[in-house]
Amino acid sequence: MALVYPRKTDLAQTPTPLQYLERASERWGGEHRLWVKRDDLTGCEMSGNKVRKLEFITAHAIDNGYDTLVTCGGLQSNHCRATAFAGARCGLSVHLLLRGEEPADPEGNLLLDHLAGATINCYPLEEYLANIDTLFEQWQAHYAAQGRKALAVPTGGSDGIGAWGYIAACEELRDDFRRAGIERAHIVTATGSGGTQTGLTLGAALHDLPATVWGVNVCDDEAYFVNKVAGDTADWQQRYPDVPAVKAAPRVLDGYVGKGYAVADPHVFELIAELARLEGLVLDPVYTGKAFAGMLAELQQGRFDDCRDIVFIHTGGIFGLFPQRGQLLEALTAH
Ligand SMILES: *Cc1c(COP(=O)(O)O)cnc(C)c1O
Repeated sequence: MALVYPRKTDLAQTPTPLQYLERASERWGGEHRLWVKRDDLTGCEMSGNKVRKLEFITAHAIDNGYDTLVTCGGLQSNHCRATAFAGARCGLSVHLLLRGEEPADPEGNLLLDHLAGATINCYPLEEYLANIDTLFEQWQAHYAAQGRKALAVPTGGSDGIGAWGYIAACEELRDDFRRAGIERAHIVTATGSGGTQTGLTLGAALHDLPATVWGVNVCDDEAYFVNKVAGDTADWQQRYPDVPAVKAAPRVLDGYVGKGYAVADPHVFELIAELARLEGLVLDPVYTGKAFAGMLAELQQGRFDDCRDIVFIHTGGIFGLFPQRGQLLEALTAH
């Protein structure tokens, strides 16, 4: 059955390149070839994996009469930054509900949120965790009282609408594989709010992509992501009843969270520094650095031995590097 996509806006610079990592393959690959899908190049200020989701989310908002996007995340959320610029690009107002105390001197993604003109409220961790659903409702009611209409976009843009972004990306990957002579691959992505993993898992099945999709979780655990992908898949099926029946069996590589979300061990910073020197590729400490480290550890344990090619999805995150420059400089000094 043909897959009918909903409308999307044109925000992402796609297709993104699939790049062979020659020196990284020599260094770590053994019999494997290591590739990277450069979704960090979906844009500049509006870059990374969230842009693919936001193409569908912004179109949904515009087509349903919304004038405002309300979304949430950490102070250094890439999703919030991408949403702030996506809104500005589409003429939608953006209101961000951020987790943590607003710093006196905003930097990285938060600085860019301000630049894009987003309305920003910061909530201390406990209040945020206890009340985020209520906060969404309160702000939506606030806009409704002004005769406006605000769409609540969940963490990471991960729901049935956002899932389309990486379902579509699998068509791109299918062409990439053909061009690169990849017959079968393991695809590895960082997973944080689950939407990228949901889209890739569904998309691989829907588009007969010869690949096994793995999410390296950067927070929570395997059970959380198995459940999250199932929930986002159910939301997708409910919103779009005509989509083909497909079963998403998410695969999670658990064990690489370290001390917690957005807290990386020194070896992750060392890997970031090494890959930058080796390949000119910049990872971030919150998502892609941990996921790449997890991929290498699993590779060494033989997890991917049944096929030659491994494709890492570079989901972006470069602005998250600046607020953590202290640890990065330590890694550079150690070298
Ligand atoms: C949000 C994000 C992820 C995780 O994607 P999800 O769809 O939220 O699981 C990975 N990498 C970067 C850089 C991100 O910003």
